[in-house]
Amino acid sequence: MNNKKSYYIIGNWKMNPGSRKEAKRLFAGIRKVSQRRTQRIVACVPFVYLVDMTTSSRPKCLSIGAQNCFLENTGSHTGEISSVQLADMKVEYVILGHSERRDLGESDEMISKKIRASLDAGLKPIICIGERERDKDGEYLKFLENQLDNAFSEVSSEDLSKVIVAYEPVWAIGRSEDEAITGHSLYEIVVFIRRFLAKGYGKNVGFSVPVLYGGSVTSKNTREFLEEGNADGLLIGRQSLDPESLMDIIDIADKI
Ligand code: PEP
Repeated sequence: MNNKKSYYIIGNWKMNPGSRKEAKRLFAGIRKVSQRRTQRIVACVPFVYLVDMTTSSRPKCLSIGAQNCFLENTGSHTGEISSVQLADMKVEYVILGHSERRDLGESDEMISKKIRASLDAGLKPIICIGERERDKDGEYLKFLENQLDNAFSEVSSEDLSKVIVAYEPVWAIGRSEDEAITGHSLYEIVVFIRRFLAKGYGKNVGFSVPVLYGGSVTSKNTREFLEEGNADGLLIGRQSLDPESLMDIIDIADKI
């Protein structure tokens, strides 16, 4: 029996690329590097490219995700896109609570409603949490606990098998790989999140929720985050826009 761990390698394309043509080319590159992989690879692409991606042939291990959804599934909401609409387009995942959306004014309450709406529609939310800065007194842990409390306020035990947590310290996003978190510090946070989930839902289900890391991931720090940090996968920004870099990261995960 093969007990090899299967990691989540999730790319967040953000508002890239600038044209449909480039998006198709990028997706073709990712599709190529995803062939015959044991990892679970997810491309979270801008809304406008979703249908191109969900309707194109791709390896089984490559899924498609969105980067946002509205907090309700019906009603008159000009310019919004619901989880029901995303699910109908065969989208499987949705990133929620990303710090760049929180910066635009998304509150914890809005994020918890979005999580509920996504689960109701059958999507798998990738719930982002992360402190802006660290302090010596450990106040950031209270901040993280508060984000977790709010995010999981509408999540039942039955929902847990569909949920992913991505720990993305804001201070480590968009930096150089040397400024990312260390494997040891990540390990502490992964344990902290698992404890939170075990306390709320019981050890069995709580520990089964994948806990990912995001923030300046490259092929140089991948092993450290997955092995020493004990993360169940990675949420990757810039490096997910380059199939070669993504391939290097997947190769490393394949060998662990
Ligand atoms: C992100 O913003 O989700 C992210 C992880 O970005 P980067 O990998 O570029 O730091």
